Amino acid sequence: MYRKNGPLFPFPTEESLTPFQTPQRKCIVGYFEGIKANNPLGVSVTVLPELGEMFEIPALTEQGPVTILFVMVVPKSDLDVFKGIKYAEDFTLKMRNTVQHFFPEIHTRIDEENFALTDDNAFLQTAIAPVIRKPYSLVKNKLVVGCGDSVFLNDPITGQGCNLSSYCAEQLYETLMKYKDSKWDIEAGEYYWNRTKQYVTEVTGWTNAMTKPLPNHVVQLLLQGAQDQAKADEIAEWFANPTKAYEAFFLNNIN
Ligand SMILES: Cc1cc2nc3c(=O)[nH]c(=O)nc-3n(C[C@H](O)[C@H](O)[C@H](O)COP(=O)(O)OP(=O)(O)OC[C@H]3O[C@@H](n4cnc5c(N)ncnc54)[C@H](O)[C@@H]3O)c2cc1C
Repeated sequence: MYRKNGPLFPFPTEESLTPFQTPQRKCIVGYFEGIKANNPLGVSVTVLPELGEMFEIPALTEQGPVTILFVMVVPKSDLDVFKGIKYAEDFTLKMRNTVQHFFPEIHTRIDEENFALTDDNAFLQTAIAPVIRKPYSLVKNKLVVGCGDSVFLNDPITGQGCNLSSYCAEQLYETLMKYKDSKWDIEAGEYYWNRTKQYVTEVTGWTNAMTKPLPNHVVQLLLQGAQDQAKADEIAEWFANPTKAYEAFFLNNIN
């Protein structure tokens, strides 16, 4: 079991952006050989309402092209079947059975003889309890600032962790440049938080909403995307520009 340790420093929790006390998904990830790539090649997602999601992701490793199967499991649902699995062989067997039962289209592309993890360490299980913290604090009158998961920890369901971390690193750089000749005090921390808060709110709001049943107007958008390439492209763009996703979920609800 992969563990994500909490922050080394107790930045205060931002309650308004931290609605959950427990993980909303268990993340089950394996790198596999023996799956015929999907066509067209790309990331695909299958949503099983109330159970979870399967992300199928093509990847290139030292062993060549492989397929990542990333199952996001709603805890205690019927898809919550990986409990207690520690060894590669058991993991592979459980994944094969899970795919067969819940994701039959992927199962049709599995070559039973060659289906295997790329190596014995190529899997993990984890679960993230999302928490957003104010990224600054004073310790003995010294300003301490935080960046990345140590302050902004979201569920991986939208794949935004690195985007958000690099965005905040850039904002931190801008903050330090602005304050380089001034006293480095609480005002610099507040300035940094003010620069980042809007984007953190958008990424977090969208990500948390993705872990709950999708609102009807979003389901309608996804159904439109199945018929209309331009709409599908717009939805795919959410992952590169989460502000668009936030707007689609919370601001453009015309239904
Ligand atoms: C299953 C899963 C899937 C994900 N998928 C995606 C995705 O598709 N796209 C995306 O953008 N994000 C994804 N993320 C999130 C992404 O991995 C994180 O948001 C990102 O790595 C955060 O970067 P970071 O530098 O803040 O922290 P980390 O990458 O965790 O780096 C922190 C580093 O600090 C080290 N460290 C910890 N304690 C100490 C110590 N005491 N002394 C010295 N070093 C220490 C750790 O070993 C680690 O190397 C995923 C996360 C998970 C768990």
